[in-house]
Amino acid sequence: GPESARLAERRRSAVAGGVGSSVPVYAADADGGVIVDVDGNSLIDLGSGIAVTSVGASDPRVAEAVAAQAQHFTHTCFMVTPYEGYVAVAERLNALTPGYHDKRTVLFNSGAEAVENAIKVARLATGRDAVVAFDHAYHGRTNLTMALTAKTMPYKKNFGPFAPEVYRMPMSYPYRDAAAGLDADGKAAAARAITQIEKQIGSDAVAAVIIEPIQGEGGFIVPAPGFLPALAAWAKENGVVFIADEVQTGFARTGAWFACEDEGIVPDIITMAKGIAGGMPLSAITGRADLLDAVHAGGLGGTYGGNPVACAAALAALDTMEDLHLPARARAIGESATTRLRALADEIGVIGDVRGRGAMIAIELVHPGTSEPDADLTKAVAAKALAAGVVILTCGTYGNVIRLLPPLVIGDALLDDALTVLETALREAAA
Ligand code: PMP
Repeated sequence: GPESARLAERRRSAVAGGVGSSVPVYAADADGGVIVDVDGNSLIDLGSGIAVTSVGASDPRVAEAVAAQAQHFTHTCFMVTPYEGYVAVAERLNALTPGYHDKRTVLFNSGAEAVENAIKVARLATGRDAVVAFDHAYHGRTNLTMALTAKTMPYKKNFGPFAPEVYRMPMSYPYRDAAAGLDADGKAAAARAITQIEKQIGSDAVAAVIIEPIQGEGGFIVPAPGFLPALAAWAKENGVVFIADEVQTGFARTGAWFACEDEGIVPDIITMAKGIAGGMPLSAITGRADLLDAVHAGGLGGTYGGNPVACAAALAALDTMEDLHLPARARAIGESATTRLRALADEIGVIGDVRGRGAMIAIELVHPGTSEPDADLTKAVAAKALAAGVVILTCGTYGNVIRLLPPLVIGDALLDDALTVLETALREAAA
């Protein structure tokens, strides 16, 4: 529309070209399912930002908590004059995250910051340097997290040199492992990674293993059952800190509070952000008290970390998630979406794999009869869906994965409409 076009024009001369946007319209209003643009057009939201607005983008409880806290104070700095909201969020996360051991929490602003700090803690507590990350991993865009992230374009190219002592190991990727003739079993995949760790680094040099229990940006890759438990067991036996990066998978998205719960994994440290605070910038690390308390006072923090307005939003968002039973809602969304997408996969030849858990759902698009990625088709499907009024994100190392991350509060009718649009877009693009 004309208003969005005018804003795009202003943006060209004001905002750096290095920042991209997937959708060409500018937002005026958004709730838990619809984004209204500045020209009055409505889009159905199947992205939640990028997995952020699980409780919606204007949850009344969050909006009220934000306004109320802003009237008391927007900032005092927790490192100067602390406040209750920070402590209350830490208590909630210590109780909500997997495991019944003694835990401590630190709050930051972004997912990348949480990941950086989890690594800082692991290195200090173990006195070791090496960090193990995986193929297809995404952990952020700061220097250390770029090093941990696998994909060069657009995240790393020409942005180096990268932080040292990061080692990349093979991931369990059932669809592609099988296509490559590898044993796709989870234990076999873990054995491949562990052997490489021991041969290339040496287990006594490893401070931490960091892994997304379901990989996000890399393609919604769900490791084969047994992979994560075997890695976690190896880490425990070798004094290696097991860090679960649940920035994208956390807070009910996969049908449990955290994706680790599916196989009973209890991480030593868990990193969280995105869904935590109803859209306000907040991130956290929660982990074993002995690890987190090993750091000297003043070693962790930051000016804005655990901002009081963001903490108020998080407490309100957590209340909403609990009251609306959003883990169960995520499972229901996943069931209805995957049922429809699997039926479509039987009908058209371009869907190589339908996967995910809860409301973190993906389809991997390939050239028919092969497992060869089709990134062009994927772009075409997202563009067709957008033209028909549905915001759909793509991801994947090969750029060939359509990913669905609807707000967990989305209504059934809206979700059905959006899935119908997606099905039509897939049929048309594949024809
Ligand atoms: N880890 C994971 C698993 C993520 O998905 C992301 C964001 N996509 C990050 C870390 C980085 O989070 P942020 O963009 O808030 O720095």
